[in-house]
Amino acid sequence: MSTPFPPLRDELRGIEPYGAPQMSHDAAPVQLNVNENPYAPSEALASSLSEAISEVALELNRYPDREFVALREQLAGYLNTSGGSGITTDMVWAANGSNEVMQQLLQAFGGPGRTALSFAPTYSMYPEYARNTLTEWVVGHREDDFGLDVDAARELVEERRPSIVLLPSPNNPTGTALPPEAVSVLCEAVGDDGLLVVDEAYGEFRRSGMPSALEMLPRHRNLVVTRTMSKAFALAGARLGYLAADPAVCDALRIVRLPYHLSATTQATASVALSYVDELLAHVDDLRVERDATVAWLREQGHEVADSDANFVLFGRFADRHAVWQGLVDRGVLIRETGPDGWLRVSVGTADEMAAFRVALMETMKTQQ
Ligand code: PMP
Repeated sequence: MSTPFPPLRDELRGIEPYGAPQMSHDAAPVQLNVNENPYAPSEALASSLSEAISEVALELNRYPDREFVALREQLAGYLNTSGGSGITTDMVWAANGSNEVMQQLLQAFGGPGRTALSFAPTYSMYPEYARNTLTEWVVGHREDDFGLDVDAARELVEERRPSIVLLPSPNNPTGTALPPEAVSVLCEAVGDDGLLVVDEAYGEFRRSGMPSALEMLPRHRNLVVTRTMSKAFALAGARLGYLAADPAVCDALRIVRLPYHLSATTQATASVALSYVDELLAHVDDLRVERDATVAWLREQGHEVADSDANFVLFGRFADRHAVWQGLVDRGVLIRETGPDGWLRVSVGTADEMAAFRVALMETMKTQQ
């Protein structure tokens, strides 16, 4: 029997590429579906970016700094103001989005004969990193309120001995933050045989009083904390994700990364954005306020709503969630049909966008009764 062309790996045949439905702004003017930051770069930031890129352009015939030392230094400085302390340049690594950072972690620390573990419902890319790196994928379950039963999680780790545990905090799509005790218990359970990766893509949006896992780095050498500039830094289009970990972990990632994986323009863009940190984080505060108001409003409307430490809110439950999603789309508001059955996820936008969401949802609910 002849192999179908192209000669794709058997387990990849028929698989749909990952991605939320994309719609034009004309079709859906209010886009609240992929947890982007609604605030575009300011004029000042955009012109600083143009200047930096013009300078870099004059040297684009050369490969970039393969070790991106200047950027790592800046990222370490930022992390020390964002829940971490004592984080040094050699503890920081970066790639094109935290998706790439995590796939590199699986390439270096997963692989055939090894296991990666997470707890559902969670970020749907995790099993894809495992599949891409031929790592066995094991999934435990969260409780009804989307929290983690730490004892059950520890038992699963002890039973399956994973090389990598992936735990987002706050979790996507539920918004649930991980208590610090859970990080300690699971780091102990994983031991030196593996790494606990706390994915803090939405870390900057956590409610006050909720610590970052960065705090625990000095106590656990098997702890890795990943962050991204796609959310709080409003830089999803630039693709810059990073992590903080023991220097030996960063060193190991240099083995699997492609040479010069971080372009000179990416490095320059991220560096300029970091120099605008105060302006960018001021918008994060606005989004946290809008998030809390959205949670409160949805509850007043009688919906079930998961507590959120992120820039999105999971709400439900709907007998026909697709009909509700479609009702919103028909009114120009695009949200995401994701999470457990019956739930929908809305990203937090500007005050005007959230007002449009509220009107569209109220109108849609009238048609559902
Ligand atoms: N982790 C989580 C939990 C996410 O939701 C996302 C993006 N939606 C990412 C990581 C990856 O983001 P990026 O590659 O843009 O850094």
